[in-house]
Order: sequence, then structure tokens, then C-alpha cells
Amino acid sequence: MQEYLQRLDREVMADCAPVFARLDELSFLNSQRVLESFQKHRVSAQHLLPSDGYAYTDPGRDTLDEIYADVFGCEAALVRHSFVNGTHTLYTAMAAVVRPGDRILSITGSLYDTLEEAIGLRGTAGSGSLADFGITYSQLELIDGCRINLPAVKEALTEDVRLVFMQRSKGYAHRESLTVAQLKEAADFVHAINPDICVFVDNCYGEFCETSEPVGQGIDLCAGSLIKNCGGGLALTGGYIAGKRKYIDLCADRMTCPGIGAHCGATLGENRRMFQGFFMAPHVVAQAMKTAVYASALLEKMGFEVLPRFDAPRTDIIQAVRFGAPEKLIAFCKGIQAGSPVDSFALPEPWDMPGYSDPVIMAAGTFVQGASIELSADGPIRPPYTAFFQGGLTFESGRLGILSAAKELLK
Ligand SMILES: *Cc1c(COP(=O)(O)O)cnc(C)c1O
Repeated sequence: MQEYLQRLDREVMADCAPVFARLDELSFLNSQRVLESFQKHRVSAQHLLPSDGYAYTDPGRDTLDEIYADVFGCEAALVRHSFVNGTHTLYTAMAAVVRPGDRILSITGSLYDTLEEAIGLRGTAGSGSLADFGITYSQLELIDGCRINLPAVKEALTEDVRLVFMQRSKGYAHRESLTVAQLKEAADFVHAINPDICVFVDNCYGEFCETSEPVGQGIDLCAGSLIKNCGGGLALTGGYIAGKRKYIDLCADRMTCPGIGAHCGATLGENRRMFQGFFMAPHVVAQAMKTAVYASALLEKMGFEVLPRFDAPRTDIIQAVRFGAPEKLIAFCKGIQAGSPVDSFALPEPWDMPGYSDPVIMAAGTFVQGASIELSADGPIRPPYTAFFQGGLTFESGRLGILSAAKELLK
């Protein structure tokens, strides 16, 4: 077995070499954009210091907002450790834009599970979801799980549509992720019909996977989590919203309160990790992409169906593998856990997670709880027994983690 895996590893490393070279170049180009922005904004020691109380002035906080906007190619941004997760950040952005009577139209199928309750598709009436405030929602499915149905979008753009929603990454759906070019095409299409509609992108897992971001390419607003790509593995918590100034102003008022906006918000010492994390992010994202590419090639050679294939273009860090049998999915997750730097001795078990209809197994031996820029895997225990995994702070540790999972699969 050991020999078989060693041979497989050598073959896969050779097959992946050209893809790895492209990812090194991607990391170089994105690192250059980030570094130049740090220099342009004259980042210095004062920006890394903590603030407390009202924090009417916090040069670090304000400069990091400007750097995100600059790197993403948009007008403004809000980067805060006080966003508790991606869901909170995405909800803040959407809730900031819509008003009673407005409609949210998703044109990439269902929203990420946790957003459904925030919008009011699930959960109890009266909880304060967007539905409670008279905001309606409808969605259009992707064609063949990979293309936005533009003729249907035209039909669905009724007067009341205020926000058009797109999710870039596949999330936990078995579909292709949408490239920045595809998102741009749809945004241009929507804006040609009605330029006043806010085109919003759930950008989770997508940042730095291409050389531009959706908000630099015709999208009005996007948001994501800092314990995914943008935190570079260093941010301890938080989220960001980026886009047009008029929307970011609304988001700032929604995040704190009208009139206060982005003028207050102590950073308590998180600036350093958020700056350094963003500096690291292009590199770390490329490491995670290499890990995904390597895993895709290796698991395909072992006979499993993978999405995407190792040499396919990528726009996020997610890799899906269909195991076809529950024992295989569980073995894979156990192997990922055993290959982690933290809690490697823990044995993941499927459990009934709130909000999911089937038991879910998760593996995450991470420095930051639940940080999915670190090597982590999860899968619902239901056919076709697909694992979704992502992350890897370094390709070396990612490769070792995947080999650990492969070893467990061979047992
Ligand atoms: C992770 C994720 C979210 C939600 O983020 P949480 O931090 O888990 O709340 C939303 N959308 C997508 C596509 C994601 O990957």
C-alpha cells in the first residue's frame, strides 16, 4: 500500500506540474496587486495598533477598507472583525440594500443553507427575517448546473426586483462554480435592462482564485468571510463587504446604525492579523488551490468521480469528490482529520447538524475554529456520498493531509 501510494504521489506530482506553475503565477500577480496597494496606502506601524471605545479614528481600520477596495477594483469596502461569520456579513449586505416591498432574485439556484433562515425561507415567522419586513424572494435554477439562464432572468426582472443575487462558489451543491467572466456577463445583462438593480455576489471561497474580483467587473456589491480566503489563515474571525460607495454606505449603516456607519468600531488589536492575513491571502489561496488540484488528480486515479478535474479552470478553492458509499466518505474525512496539525487524534463522526436534513460528517483540525482556508472536509451522509473539501495553509501540509486520507481509503 505504501509503495502504491508513493508511486501514485509521484505520478500525480508530475501530472500537476503545469497546473502548479500556473497557480504560482496567479499567486505572483495577486500578491503584486496587494503589495502595491500596501505601498500606495503607506501602511506603517500605526495601522497595526489596537483601538478601543468609540474608535472615531482608527487609521488601520480605515486604511484596510481602502486597500480592499483598491485590490478588488471597486469604490469602497468594509472589513470588520465584528462580523461573526460569512452568513452575518452576507445578510448585512443584502439587508442594507432592500426595503419593504422589494424582491431578491437569485439567478444561481438556492442560496447557501444558512442564508435561507435570514431571508425567511425557513425558520419561524416573526424572528425578524427579511420576509418579516415584507421582502420577497424568488430564484432561478442554473441550466445543467453550470450556466445562468439569461432569457429566464429577463422574464423574472419584475419592477419589484431590487437585488439580484449570485453565488460564485458551488458551496455544497454539485454544480460548477461560476467564473468572474460568467458573473460579469450576467451582471451586464441585468444592468442593461435596469441599471438601478444591485447585483450582489456571495464571493465566499472565490477571492484571489482569479486575477480580478466580481466587483471589479461590473458587479455592484460582494461579501465574504475572513476565516476563508481573505484572512490568509491569520484572521481569527470577521468578514468583508466590497463594492459601490453608495451601497457600502448603506451596509455601514446597517452594520452599526444609521448615522454612525463606518465612523465607529474599535478594532481591539485585530488590525495586525487582518492586514497580515490579507497580505498572505494570495499565496495561501494558491496553496489551497494546489492542494485541491493534487487531491483531484490523486482521487481520480483511485477511481473516484471528482469535480472539478485537476486541470480544469478554477474560480474557488472547493473540491468535490463522489465516494458512492458512506464508509468511503467517512474514511476520507477520518484521514483528513488524522492528517491535520491540530486535533489529529480526534475521530470525526456523522452528526445531526441543525439546519441539515441528513447527518453530516466534518473534518477540521484547524488552528482557528472552523476556518475553512485550513484543510477541512465535510459531507452529508446521503447518496452520492460527496465530500466537499477545501483549504490547506501550505501545499506541503495539504499534500500530506490528502495522502493521509488516501491511506485511510485504502484500508
Ligand atoms: C461559507 C459560505 C457561506 C457562509 O459562511 P459562514 O461563515 O459559514 O456563515 C455562504 N456562502 C458560501 C458560498 C459559503 O461558502
